[in-house]
Amino acid sequence: MTNKQIEKKLNKTLKKLEDIEFALNESSIVAITEKKGIINYVNKKFCDISKYKEEELIGQDHKIVNAGYHSKAFFKQMWQTIGSGNVWKGEIKNKAKDGSFYWVDTTIVPFLDGHGKPYQYVSIRNDITKKKAMEEEIKQMAYYDSLTELPNRNFLNKHLQTVIGNKKPAAIMFLDLDRFKVINDTMGHIAGDLLLKQTAVRLKEILPSSAFISRTGGDEFVVILEDIRSENDAAKIAEHIITSLEAPFLINEETFFISTSIGISLYEPHHLTTESLPVEKVIESEIRKADIAMYYAKELGGGTYQLNTPLLNEKVSRKMTLETQLNRALQNDEFTLHYQPQFDLHTDSITGVEALLRWHHPQFGLISPNEFIPILEETGLIVSVGRWVIETACTQMKQWQKEGVPIQHAAVNVSAKQFKNVHFAKEVIQILRKVELNPACLELEITESMIQNVKETKIILQALKDFGVRTSIDDFGTGYSSLSYLQHLPIDCLKIDKSFIYEMSKGEEIMVKTIINMGKSLQFNIVAEGIENEEQLSLLQQYGCHYGQGYFYSKPLAPEQLKTFLEENRIPALQTLND
Ligand code: C2E
Ligand code: CA
Ligand code: CA
Repeated sequence: MTNKQIEKKLNKTLKKLEDIEFALNESSIVAITEKKGIINYVNKKFCDISKYKEEELIGQDHKIVNAGYHSKAFFKQMWQTIGSGNVWKGEIKNKAKDGSFYWVDTTIVPFLDGHGKPYQYVSIRNDITKKKAMEEEIKQMAYYDSLTELPNRNFLNKHLQTVIGNKKPAAIMFLDLDRFKVINDTMGHIAGDLLLKQTAVRLKEILPSSAFISRTGGDEFVVILEDIRSENDAAKIAEHIITSLEAPFLINEETFFISTSIGISLYEPHHLTTESLPVEKVIESEIRKADIAMYYAKELGGGTYQLNTPLLNEKVSRKMTLETQLNRALQNDEFTLHYQPQFDLHTDSITGVEALLRWHHPQFGLISPNEFIPILEETGLIVSVGRWVIETACTQMKQWQKEGVPIQHAAVNVSAKQFKNVHFAKEVIQILRKVELNPACLELEITESMIQNVKETKIILQALKDFGVRTSIDDFGTGYSSLSYLQHLPIDCLKIDKSFIYEMSKGEEIMVKTIINMGKSLQFNIVAEGIENEEQLSLLQQYGCHYGQGYFYSKPLAPEQLKTFLEENRIPALQTLND
């Protein structure tokens, strides 16, 4: 190669290197340090991101941009890698001259001398501040509630793990705003959101800074207070929360009032049962205990707190269990009807039966309707179960008729929710048609409290009467209805509540006497329920009560038992309806 050729090649190579340097400077943050970390070269991008001038950096230790974020071990490992001649890669948080932080994705390449020892390091970095900020945000989202900026359920779980892991006593409080759904529905979600935000602010204001306050969903907040051991201390704080949240909230220039229900569980780390359980199980059980207590506070009408006790736990747990299991009881064929015979008090012949719902629970056995009917009503399940009752009773009636069993009619209890349904009368008629039962064989029992709107009630009752269905007022005397307005309703029968029959044997027969007299003068048939002894029966006969039922005659019976009962006692059929 001639000198000229060599020069040409050299120029070409130099040009290439210049291009590479240009490209590198355009794309990356570059610095060169000597072997101890003293900076001897920085590019423009390094100056831009670190906000230092070139002359402020040259001759300085690279530590000038250290953010104090990473551990000593982090840098030790880095120096070990590059010190032994290897390339190091990682993400570093640095600090700029103005105190702001930036993140760089870093590659450090060591350059080795003739002895294989590094004499300088070239670091090539890329700005990843935005990516890191996004990661932070995602982390934040995973642990915080975006509306109130309070810790969320994930964070609560983590926090409880620490508290329980450290075996510290603590009060776990479950807060739930009462009737929040109504506010949300009537005032709109925006107002609802603002109310939740203000609730969070108020909780932060009134609780000690050591309290852990989280929002776990909807209008539910969970507060953890460490080192609370006594019920008294917990109760004081709960009371304080309740009164503070009772003060008016101003939202969009409107004043709102809310009340709060609080359930409290006191976590006792050295309790026998909690000590042997894994942390996750303890968390689950503590949360459940607080939740149960909250549920009970709601049952009491809200605006109050409740401490979890074993007794309360059992009571509410049972209700909650029944609530979920009632959902499947109908499909699982767990319901049956028992029938209590009704008699003509003067001839002792059988007139009809009252159908009474029974639930055979797979574990608990037979459960009283007094316990599960209110739950069916609360959950709205009563509508479908009630329809099943009517259809089953009608089918049974039809069966008895085929078999020649002398029962004239079956009475079925109707709940308020069923009765309120606009299609109720239509559905009853449909069932009767389907079963092909004479409508006069069905009697529907409603209670006084269901007659809130006399006009509407009259329309439904009239539709039923026109079709031939009989109706009666159940538990008569316990409501506030006056006989005078009942006379405007197409009702056939009054059933005097069993509490009055019970009182009769204690010399308080005036009520019963009055109901019978007035009822009869208004052309109602009168039925006495809960007749338990001969004395009650003879008084009722004396007053001219038409019909009756009660343990004195028979308890409610399964259909087969009822047939046997009738046969064994040679109960006669009613010949003519007594008026
Ligand atoms: P209710 O309609 O007043 O029914 C009469 C209740 O008194 C029945 O209780 C019956 O077993 C009981 N009883 C009958 N004779 C006597 C007696 O001589 N002395 C005493 N102390 N009690 C007597 P049960 O079967 O436990 O039903 C309780 C309540 O559950 C019923 O009261 C009724 O309100 C409701 N219920 C039962 N079945 C149904 C149903 O199918 N639908 C609806 N909506 N409610 C029902
Ligand atoms: Ca009844
Ligand atoms: Ca009754």
